[in-house]
Amino acid sequence: MSRMLAALSVASSLSFPASAGATVKVVTTIPDFAQLAREVGGDRVTTVSFVSPTQDPHFVDARPSFAVDLADADLLIYAGAELEAGWLPPLLRTAGNAGIMPGETGHLNVATVVPLKDTPPGAVDRSQGDVHPLGNPHTWIDPRNGLRIAIAITSRLKALDPDGTDAYETGLRDFARRLGDKMKEWKDLLAPYAGTKVVVYHKSWIYFLEWAGLVEAGTIEPLPGVPAADSDLTALADRLSGNGVRLVIGESYYPSDSLGFVAEQLGATELTLPAMTGGATGCDTYIDLIDHDVHAVVDALQ
Ligand SMILES: [Zn+2]
Repeated sequence: MSRMLAALSVASSLSFPASAGATVKVVTTIPDFAQLAREVGGDRVTTVSFVSPTQDPHFVDARPSFAVDLADADLLIYAGAELEAGWLPPLLRTAGNAGIMPGETGHLNVATVVPLKDTPPGAVDRSQGDVHPLGNPHTWIDPRNGLRIAIAITSRLKALDPDGTDAYETGLRDFARRLGDKMKEWKDLLAPYAGTKVVVYHKSWIYFLEWAGLVEAGTIEPLPGVPAADSDLTALADRLSGNGVRLVIGESYYPSDSLGFVAEQLGATELTLPAMTGGATGCDTYIDLIDHDVHAVVDALQ
């Protein structure tokens, strides 16, 4: 790698420093997968993630450093179901790393290890700009899926680094125990609000909402990835008026004036929530992220 590209790589990616004995270089699109890899792999892995936690993961500007990171990665983890379709495939081609190409142990497409929602019943219509044509890619924000993803990562790390098998199994067990304890706590907190209706900006919360017992009553975007026009906002508010919607949820990168307008029209509370690890203060781990979002929802409903 050239010195310039190496410098770019260090400067622009969210990387965690290699520690002594690290053997597996994990490169991920969103930071959640990197954090889960660190939960399992500890100091046997180094991680780099491309997407900032406050950035729309559908629309990322690919930097030259990303291809450099991919070129010497041992394991690529990405959401799949076309979340990264606009920017990851050309990087993979540029990187030319056979070990992380589809079908290889070093290629982990998360959409293949969790049950996908919103999968289309028939032929896919891409003409309207829907960025979820193969199903909903925002799988990670349900803690049951967080565990599924951690299990899949463990299996890949064991295959890539058999000497670390005991360490990876211990890391997974420890993560699963801590997550399981928190899941009981979260379910108790959420139980009084079962069935509460919620509007979301982008259809990125269905996994979380379904796990939490909340109901998605509508989306502000007319189709995933298609920004709402003023007419969409008023039509949605008219349609849901009097329906008892209590929350209007969106990530920080969506227009808060749209969230605020719909919330005001519906007499609901506007709630900006991080959807990725690191997306808000105190959300530095995957468990902290879910914890933050559960408490934010409960606080808003109390
Ligand atoms: Zn999406």
